[in-house]
Amino acid sequence: MIVKTAKSLLVATLITLGAAATINAEPFTLAPLPYAADALAPVIDQETMQIHHGRHHQAYVNNLNAQVATFPELATLPLEAIMSRISRYNDAVRNNAGGHYNHQLFWQIMAPAGQSGEPSVELYAAIKRDFGSVEAMQSAFNKAATTRFGSGWAWLILDENNKLVVTSTANQDNPLMDVVDIQGTPLLALDIWEHAYYLQYQNKRGDYATAWWQLVNWHKVNELYGAATL
Ligand code: MN
Repeated sequence: MIVKTAKSLLVATLITLGAAATINAEPFTLAPLPYAADALAPVIDQETMQIHHGRHHQAYVNNLNAQVATFPELATLPLEAIMSRISRYNDAVRNNAGGHYNHQLFWQIMAPAGQSGEPSVELYAAIKRDFGSVEAMQSAFNKAATTRFGSGWAWLILDENNKLVVTSTANQDNPLMDVVDIQGTPLLALDIWEHAYYLQYQNKRGDYATAWWQLVNWHKVNELYGAATL
């Protein structure tokens, strides 16, 4: 009996060690941009894209990976699940998991000029229902972008009542986080940190926000809307 217990303990220990060994210490990676770094010019210049993706986004990924030693479960959770329980973690996880999620989305919801598409019939109807017109939605979105003090993001989200809402968050927070006032599924995201526009637009955040609409990848936004309304 004693021998059997010792054997069970040994097996349990080996299983634990095995599980620990399979946790990837650097589970988060920086995907390449889905287009060339100069593909969004002249709205967003090549140098801004290279620094923004290659240095800023890379730093969020690196800093998030550095937190896995402290919070091993981060390696096993989808980013969206980390967001929905972000209040359990420290500021480093909040800022860097948020930064990683936000930038991944940002790159995907932009496309080179001429490849933007347009809102789907369903999304267009929802925008008309909740804002009156696409122009009114854009105006509300740009107001959220320009009135956010300091660094942050502007969002179009689908809230829990299936209503489209424009909102903004500070720093690298996002509407999936359980710590923000207005929660929902992100459909559009605009980075309004100075690192996103300063080289080209300097202090003219409003000009950047206005020009940015030329880059919106409506194909991707329609896909996000479709998934959120399933
Ligand atoms: Mn950024």
